[in-house]
Amino acid sequence: MNFAKNNFRRPRCNEMATTMKTAEERLRWALEICRNAQMRATPVREAILFFLATQRLPVSLETVSRSEKIHGRCNATTIYRTLMMFKEAGIVRLVGTPQKASYFLLNAPGQKNHFLICRRCGCTTELPLPESMCKSISQIAAAQGFSTAEQDCEVYGYCQTCHTVRQKETAPSKLSV
Ligand SMILES: [Zn+2]
Repeated sequence: MNFAKNNFRRPRCNEMATTMKTAEERLRWALEICRNAQMRATPVREAILFFLATQRLPVSLETVSRSEKIHGRCNATTIYRTLMMFKEAGIVRLVGTPQKASYFLLNAPGQKNHFLICRRCGCTTELPLPESMCKSISQIAAAQGFSTAEQDCEVYGYCQTCHTVRQKETAPSKLSV
């Protein structure tokens, strides 16, 4: 389990409530961070943030490139550089998969970002951790001298499909019995 690292630092806007549920709120938060960081707002940057604000799960560079408002407007390198710039500003979080492909997620505050990630195919699913567990983690973190710890848990395992495939792959051959 990887808990929040420094590069997952999540900038907060004073005016924003700690809970953001709608895509509009998430987009507003991201745009405000851009303004505070004096990042120039370009149509492509706004389109990328708009797309990410509507996504609940981490998305690949390819998915971002193919999205309606971005497709055909700029190349993948520009999109990747923009996403990395957002990452540096703390607006976007990178979720790594064992395939070394990077997945991107809006780093908006007040939402749980816990994921199950398949070691084999890299598919990502939300991990609904109970509130009590999150509180326990905060308490354990506080005992270690970490205040107001935010948790972004990434749990690695095998999805159902990959588990079945692995079982078939590792099953001993009947001929050898
Ligand atoms: Zn899988």
